[in-house]
Amino acid sequence: MEQAPWQRTAAGAGLLGADGRLAPTIFAEMTALASKTGALNLGQGFPDEDGPRAVLDAAKHAIDHGRNQYGPGRGSQELIDAVVEHQRRFYGIGLGRGDVLVTAGATEALAATMLAYLSPGDEVIVFEPYYDAYAAVAALAGAVLVPVPLAAPDFQPDPDRLQRAATPRTRMIIVNSPHNPTGTVFDEASMRHIVRVAERRDAIIVTDEVYEHLVYDERHVPIATIDAARDRLVSISSAGKTFSVTGWKVGWVMSTPERIAQISAVKQYLTFVNGAPFQPAVAVGLRLADEHFDTIQQTFARKRDILARGLRKAGFTVHDAMAGYFLLADAAPLGIDDATALARRMPELVGVVGVPLLALARPSRRDLRSTMRFAFCKSDDTLHEAASRLAGLKDAVLQPVP
Ligand code: PMP
Ligand code: GLN
Repeated sequence: MEQAPWQRTAAGAGLLGADGRLAPTIFAEMTALASKTGALNLGQGFPDEDGPRAVLDAAKHAIDHGRNQYGPGRGSQELIDAVVEHQRRFYGIGLGRGDVLVTAGATEALAATMLAYLSPGDEVIVFEPYYDAYAAVAALAGAVLVPVPLAAPDFQPDPDRLQRAATPRTRMIIVNSPHNPTGTVFDEASMRHIVRVAERRDAIIVTDEVYEHLVYDERHVPIATIDAARDRLVSISSAGKTFSVTGWKVGWVMSTPERIAQISAVKQYLTFVNGAPFQPAVAVGLRLADEHFDTIQQTFARKRDILARGLRKAGFTVHDAMAGYFLLADAAPLGIDDATALARRMPELVGVVGVPLLALARPSRRDLRSTMRFAFCKSDDTLHEAASRLAGLKDAVLQPVP
């Protein structure tokens, strides 16, 4: 029997059991597990500290000054202007007001873009491991997900594998750099190669740049800076990570006015509009002085280093994260080959929660089986405490199961 759209969506993200039962997303499952057990939640990627005060105050001000009703369909004028300024200031990219569409987070931006362009049978290339929403929405659209593996140690895309993955049916290539969950940043050669492959197959490139301001040792370079990419590019970002406001769900799409109109045609029936008082507040954030952005970067780099040290001390092989919220840690040196089983037991073993990497890849990726993803977007105290608890993991796993 043909699957209903909801079944396709859940199955696409690996959440539909053989018995037809629906599982929660790995992020919801691990957060619930942390709440139930009182374990430290390094699973779902959300900060446990507030971001810049000016941004929070601006939202309160907007609520107090009547910004509480539907706003314009394309987004508030301040935010559109702030996105235009931001792209010029940080990347030298010249956008017009008609090139921007504000959305309910990057999630809605991705969904509206994918639903606007993907027809049943179209192929979508993603780099694996991948953020779960890509697989879910591709499946909802009836499109075929074509994962190109990223592998340790550097998680850069392999040019030949990308070339081979592309076919005349390739309609879209989704590029998430800086990358969740590996923390890698695609190098310039990889990005140019992606653009060439997309040109050859006449595919759209969709970028997911939500970690653009969390690149630690260098600076983010958007694909939009490559001239040849322009005509086939839809760029997406959001405020959640940069300003530690993941619950606000304010994102934006940048493309040509023609594509913005096409994507709006779908977006206006998903949410129409959202987050009226948060949009001007995000505009304030995007216009913060450079020092604020430097502070954000330095703060998260310090957090990454605290957790990386803790995980190494605990016996994991830790992959260096150049960017983002997460560290990948391989439990194989601890004699553990199944990170999914480990993730479920970790609260009871050491009082820490993480996400098994295989939740973000196909089960056939055996090379990822023993690896976990840990979020370091948490207070220094939480990270130090997690490090000291993790130090007990080796002994805890050696205990015979009672
Ligand atoms: N893309 C990636 C790679 C993410 O990690 C996330 C959220 N953590 C999103 C998209 C969703 O962003 P938003 O919360 O703005 O919808
Ligand atoms: N992006 C967050 C993560 O990767 C989770 C967002 C969600 O729960 N959908 O942890």
